[in-house]
Amino acid sequence: MSTWENKGFPYDELRPGQKEISDLVKDAVEKNSIAIINAPTGFGKTAAVIKGIIESKAEKVLWLVRTVNEIDPIIRELKRFNLDYSFLFSAKRTCPLFKNQNDNAISSEDFWENCRLARIKGLCNYYTKSIEIDNKEIWEVIEKMETFSSIEQANAIANKIKSCPFFSLAELSKDTRFIIATYPYYFKDEIFERVLDFLDLEKSVVVVDEAHSLMNAHSILETSITLRDIEQSLSEIKEYGYSNTEIEKIISNLYNTAKDLKPKLDNAVRRVEKEKFNESLNYVDIISDVAEEIRDKKFQKFYNLNYSIKVYLTHLLSWLLSLKNDYSYLFVSTEDSIYRLISTPLDPSEVVNKPLQKVKSAILISGTIPPGDFVGEMLNINKERVFFDAEIMLGIKGRIGKSLTIVSGDVSTLYKTRGESMYKRISYYLNQIGKLEGIKLFVYPSYELMDKISKGLSNQFNYINEGKNTSLEEVINQASKNDGLIINAVAGGKITEGIEITDNGRSKIKVITIIGIPYPQRDAYLTAHEEILSKRLGLSKTKYYLYKVAAYVRIKQALGRAIRFPDDKGVYFLLDYRYLYGEIKKLLRLKYNKVTKNIDEFNKVMPEVVNFLKD
Ligand code: SF4
Repeated sequence: MSTWENKGFPYDELRPGQKEISDLVKDAVEKNSIAIINAPTGFGKTAAVIKGIIESKAEKVLWLVRTVNEIDPIIRELKRFNLDYSFLFSAKRTCPLFKNQNDNAISSEDFWENCRLARIKGLCNYYTKSIEIDNKEIWEVIEKMETFSSIEQANAIANKIKSCPFFSLAELSKDTRFIIATYPYYFKDEIFERVLDFLDLEKSVVVVDEAHSLMNAHSILETSITLRDIEQSLSEIKEYGYSNTEIEKIISNLYNTAKDLKPKLDNAVRRVEKEKFNESLNYVDIISDVAEEIRDKKFQKFYNLNYSIKVYLTHLLSWLLSLKNDYSYLFVSTEDSIYRLISTPLDPSEVVNKPLQKVKSAILISGTIPPGDFVGEMLNINKERVFFDAEIMLGIKGRIGKSLTIVSGDVSTLYKTRGESMYKRISYYLNQIGKLEGIKLFVYPSYELMDKISKGLSNQFNYINEGKNTSLEEVINQASKNDGLIINAVAGGKITEGIEITDNGRSKIKVITIIGIPYPQRDAYLTAHEEILSKRLGLSKTKYYLYKVAAYVRIKQALGRAIRFPDDKGVYFLLDYRYLYGEIKKLLRLKYNKVTKNIDEFNKVMPEVVNFLKD
């Protein structure tokens, strides 16, 4: 139970829709049901949900977010409400002992094994302190801080009271009313059991932020290994004295099986029978023992605080164990010229159904909740559900900011229309749009089309092309130096799902252009996904969710990047004639201010767009 009292709603007044949301949440919690809330960014959803939860007198709230950065806005609101909280995310990022392990060179399995050994061997004083310290002392450190940054607050625990941030916050979670955590803390059984097992789910409320992501919840459990990792495991075994032993034979057999499954072509993905590795699964205990022995030897040989101890066998074991799940499937991929073996579930309900079904109440929030009964159908949850949709319930009052939408009806990325002349025409439009003020986000259906079309952009512009490894920080950094930057990004990627560039309560991204309709591309992975889901939902409903709804969510997510605050203005260009009819038009529910049929008409519209942005 919370030991710190709240001081009520921290704003002067409730905005339109906030009372409805908080009443709906209170009601859902009291009736043990699920509330689904669809409202745009800037609407005040978080404050309204917190208000409803407080009024419902729920004892414990687990607030789930996708990324560390998404923890901070929740901390900001909870601080405004004067509510107590704790938060949980990757210990690897805040561990003060292995500071230099905060990189991608070391897997989370390796990190946890190193942490475990350091604790067992009494090498971590931060851990010792975290066992001795009182939760009040930890809370005092973070309560006093003005920053909302979870990383800074975690670091302060290490710097000011020399306690392990992760274990301190995990302990603090037992006392606070609110716990903010990234998705895996709830949806990955082994992590939940290790850290949050104390939660009485029948009395707890779970809030899922950006709940549209649950459509892809299966990716939370995805785990992959490369052929190179298996080779390294073999070298490691030999180096640490296990040549000509049973373990060498086991891993050699596994290596040969993996090698035989490699696709012949580059950039190919293929589903394979995971049963091929059944033989290896008989030996997981031996693999686990040897991995532990090797780590122990490495610790004795190399241990110092700057050395990232990596045991390849540990990761191999965790990948192998993932194949044991009844609902996991195995794919082999040579994308990006790396041969990977990917184990993943395909049905999101396998990951989220049980956790959301057994909790007292779940509150799902997003600006792009998939249409239809995605909770009942896609997630297979049969709890009672209540729904709030800002636009349906409040009409124009439910919208945030002002927008202008222009559809170009003379272009498309439909397969049969593709070719140099079509790319040139699209580039022509992009070059006109590129002259508008503010940061412009151009969203392409695939990397391939981004390469082909963005080649035609004029050299007079400053632009950045999203690559598979481009980070949000890199793009934000470039945008901070250039107010007119063009960001070329791929629909459904990190940028279109997560970028926010703001200054003084206004979004600096003013124009969003969607090139084509970003339906997911059909590959072996999507085909298998379709096959598995259609057993439960039937083929037409499966296709509806996997293609139409997925494209809808991608488009809405991208469009949402321009309007973050009530005073924002955004211009949307939809460059494809398919926006003019059919399911996508119905799903988007956008008012089209102008439809152009040729270059002349398009050029005539541009002065209006310039004025709209200036007004
Ligand atoms: S106990 Fe905490 S500080 Fe110590 S190694 Fe583990 S994560 Fe790092």
